[in-house]
Amino acid sequence: MSMTNSFQAGSVALSDREKSMIGRRARLLGPAYKLFYQQPVYFVRGEGVWLYDNEGNQYLDAYNNVPSVGHCHPHVIEATTRQTVQLNSHSRYLHDNVLDYAEHLLSRFPAELGLSNAMFTCTGSEANDLAYRIAKYNTGGDGFIVTDLAYHGGTDVIASMSPSLGEFVPLGANVRVVPAPNSFRGSKNVGEAFANNVRSAAEDLRHHAVQPAALLVDTIFSSDGVFSDPAGFLQQAVEVIHEFGGLFIADEVQPGFGRLGEQFWGFQRHRVSPDLVTMGKGMGGGHPLAGVVALPQLLEALGKSRYFNTTGGTAVSCAIGKSILEVIENESLMENALDVGSYLISSLREMMERHEVIGDVRGAGLFIGVEMVTDRSRNIASEAIATTVVNELRQKRVLVSSAGPGANVLKIRPPLPFSRENADQLLQCFDEVLTAL
Ligand code: PMP
Repeated sequence: MSMTNSFQAGSVALSDREKSMIGRRARLLGPAYKLFYQQPVYFVRGEGVWLYDNEGNQYLDAYNNVPSVGHCHPHVIEATTRQTVQLNSHSRYLHDNVLDYAEHLLSRFPAELGLSNAMFTCTGSEANDLAYRIAKYNTGGDGFIVTDLAYHGGTDVIASMSPSLGEFVPLGANVRVVPAPNSFRGSKNVGEAFANNVRSAAEDLRHHAVQPAALLVDTIFSSDGVFSDPAGFLQQAVEVIHEFGGLFIADEVQPGFGRLGEQFWGFQRHRVSPDLVTMGKGMGGGHPLAGVVALPQLLEALGKSRYFNTTGGTAVSCAIGKSILEVIENESLMENALDVGSYLISSLREMMERHEVIGDVRGAGLFIGVEMVTDRSRNIASEAIATTVVNELRQKRVLVSSAGPGANVLKIRPPLPFSRENADQLLQCFDEVLTAL
């Protein structure tokens, strides 16, 4: 993703207002905040799959997975308002909302997996941080295995196992990275190769007298470049980490809550049974709601002390979380993700006939990666083409992003009410941009 925090904006001329806002951000927020696009966008309103800028222009949102049920959904607004005017209490008082929400959330897990306790935090980072502690207490180790371009969050310990943050954020001494299960560029036997790499990493930890605590993966491998297939490829790796006495933590912050279409959670695609599941983003639709779902026996050690998160799982947060689950169910958004996602994937694959720069199209439901290459005979990753596409689509008022080791994988993961008509608009704009390259 091309990110901007200065006045260099490629060939795009910025208005005085844009320059002034960018300057103000740098002055007030410092240098760590980055902006999307060579010409950043200033949004003032959202509705469904649409965003509106300060001049009233409408943009098709094919990128944001946080407002997963659509921007400003009326049912979510109503639930937020109803609880906000009544009470916002924390989890040290009795309240129905936290219980009703926990019950509803847990009902979305197959009962036979035994994942029957829910704990609430405010961010996905905190959820992974809590999962880290739980894994440490239960295994006696602190060795973690992650994929080589993973992002799991921004707390100190989780940043140290988020290699996508780059060279200025050192990996933890007890963190090992393994290549992501790359079906396009890696071994064709994805599951076996991934499991072998996890085994080598676990052995290396042991060799350094470190007990493996967990294998932690985003089950759609979003920042690694979106790897979905073949479904089931995680099974052998989960067996390996268990063999070494470690836990399997499924990070569902991105793929969870029905986005992948066929199943509610990404780990279900791979028919594996996690010890801990972490979640966030779409869970609260932009409100800070995240959490960990766990096998209850794993929480015993934590229960010897106490866990309190002041704004995690409040009465308002839980009302919002519950309303989001209701929208997903009442509006059949998972089914829509499957229908529109399959349509998008097959249409994008058809476009490969006309455009040599599309190297691969992959994904599940409304989580799609499109790999941009110089040409398909060589399949050399092209960050330049991906960056051009992302920025040209933005000029056509369609929002996508890019990821992956070569920063060349377009990431398409719109709000779930995305329709076939919306998909056609995206496809047409994409076709126009590629034709003009
Ligand atoms: N895990 C994954 C897979 C994520 O993509 C993210 C956020 N991009 C996080 C964890 C951290 O979530 P948060 O930003 O809510 O802390």
